[in-house]
Amino acid sequence: MIFGATGDLAKRKLFPSLYRLYKKGRLSERFAVVGVARRPLSDDEFQASVKTSVESAIKDSGELEDFISHFYYHSHDVTDSSSYLALKSMAEKLDTHYSLEGNRIFYLAMAPEFFGTIAEHLKADGLTDVDGFKRLVIEKPFGHDLESAKQLNKQIRKAFSENEIYRIDHYLGKEMVQNIEVIRFANAIFEPLWNNRYISNIQVTSSEVLGVEERGRYYEKSGALRDMVQNHMLQMVALLAMEPPIRLTTDEIRSEKVKVLRAMRPLEGDQVKEYFVRGQYGKGQLNGKEVPAYNEEPMVDEQSNTETYVAGKLTIDNFRWAGVPIYIRTGKRMAAKSTKIVIQFKDIPMNLYYQTEQTLNPNLLVIHIQPEEGITLYLNAQKSGQNIEATPVKLNFANKGIDDMNTPEAYERLLYDCMRGDATNFTHWDEVALSWSFVDKISDVWENTKEESFPNYESGSMGPKEADQLLEKDGFFWWPVT
Ligand code: NAD
Repeated sequence: MIFGATGDLAKRKLFPSLYRLYKKGRLSERFAVVGVARRPLSDDEFQASVKTSVESAIKDSGELEDFISHFYYHSHDVTDSSSYLALKSMAEKLDTHYSLEGNRIFYLAMAPEFFGTIAEHLKADGLTDVDGFKRLVIEKPFGHDLESAKQLNKQIRKAFSENEIYRIDHYLGKEMVQNIEVIRFANAIFEPLWNNRYISNIQVTSSEVLGVEERGRYYEKSGALRDMVQNHMLQMVALLAMEPPIRLTTDEIRSEKVKVLRAMRPLEGDQVKEYFVRGQYGKGQLNGKEVPAYNEEPMVDEQSNTETYVAGKLTIDNFRWAGVPIYIRTGKRMAAKSTKIVIQFKDIPMNLYYQTEQTLNPNLLVIHIQPEEGITLYLNAQKSGQNIEATPVKLNFANKGIDDMNTPEAYERLLYDCMRGDATNFTHWDEVALSWSFVDKISDVWENTKEESFPNYESGSMGPKEADQLLEKDGFFWWPVT
């Protein structure tokens, strides 16, 4: 059951992903999808809208008619018990018709204020009384801060146990985010160096070219810290910094990630200004076009104090990482759309060679998450014909180059994982809670001090100059991501 089946997420991501799974034979014929949303629609109209959304995402649509015949629609008011009773009887009929053995997945692709109410109704009105498994997939944001997240968790835990809850962080469904673990733990050349003796700093960038678009109302209350840092950025940091799990099971991996988040040094009061930088985009040029400032966007306050950019320095207080800064930055209206991780290794003890600029480049391992997917290793090698001059060389692995097929969409993997009952790439409550408690301290300071310099970076740039100074203070700079 997809709650919010007429929404943007369902149309752009969920239906095309389900279709890809169907085509690959990962969905048997024994499945039904019930679309739930407010608007009255017939099954036929709903199937037609599913068809349109699949066609606009995927060229090859050979089995589409069979696929959409599994879709049903229920017009629903999420706060009305009688509506759930009708949904229940529909679900029971479909269960019998398709021999579903009482297995149900409830996907909440709706505004977050409804998450708690829906979960409570699912239980109270009997939809969770099933013979098979019941699972709840819940979209972000999971709360607005630690307090509201706790409240929401309490509500959904009344109906679902922790291992039945699949909290989506779609970054965890991305091929190259999942690859972080493999690169680290399947290669003898990296893991022995993966610590404060050999790594000087780590940089995680997730930049967007798009502005806030029509999401101004939501974004004004959220900002980049809640929208990106609390979830995606800290999840990538946890995967980069965790200890090798003793086994590749959900519990073992999650427990190592939790330890990283617990070891992250909390920031208080004045430290926030020292370790974190916020930005808001002003107008500027992007692809030859003038674009407006954030505070001129629809549904945004002219005096807005909301950040559209965050850069920060994280410190992980454990044996492996003591002394290694992990820098993160994310923002809208930046020069390029790019998510990348750069691992910068320490300089070798003595430089016997020289390059034109007299210094050797440090070794870098770059993990390209999106839009390109791959790995680049930056080394130094002999410049041809010269035996005392070194030149940088790049070893490149592009994921798409090897395998001509596009890698699966994050949502495709995550839906499949959920159907198989594998929650590894979903966030556990402990991770959510620890991330919020770190982020809350920063937002407390930011919300209570008006940032007079806003807007402080031009659209089409890589963010405010203070973000560069954050690294310069430590003798580093942001490696270019374009
Ligand atoms: P949307 O506004 O496009 O869709 C909302 C859906 O909820 C519609 O189907 C609407 O009919 C339904 N709805 C609203 N009020 C209802 C009510 N009272 N009773 C029954 N149905 C009701 O939202 P969206 O962009 O699809 O986002 C859904 C969720 O996914 C949100 O939590 C959002 O944060 C999250 N999300 C969206 C995206 C994205 O790309 N759109 C990405 C990541 C996360």
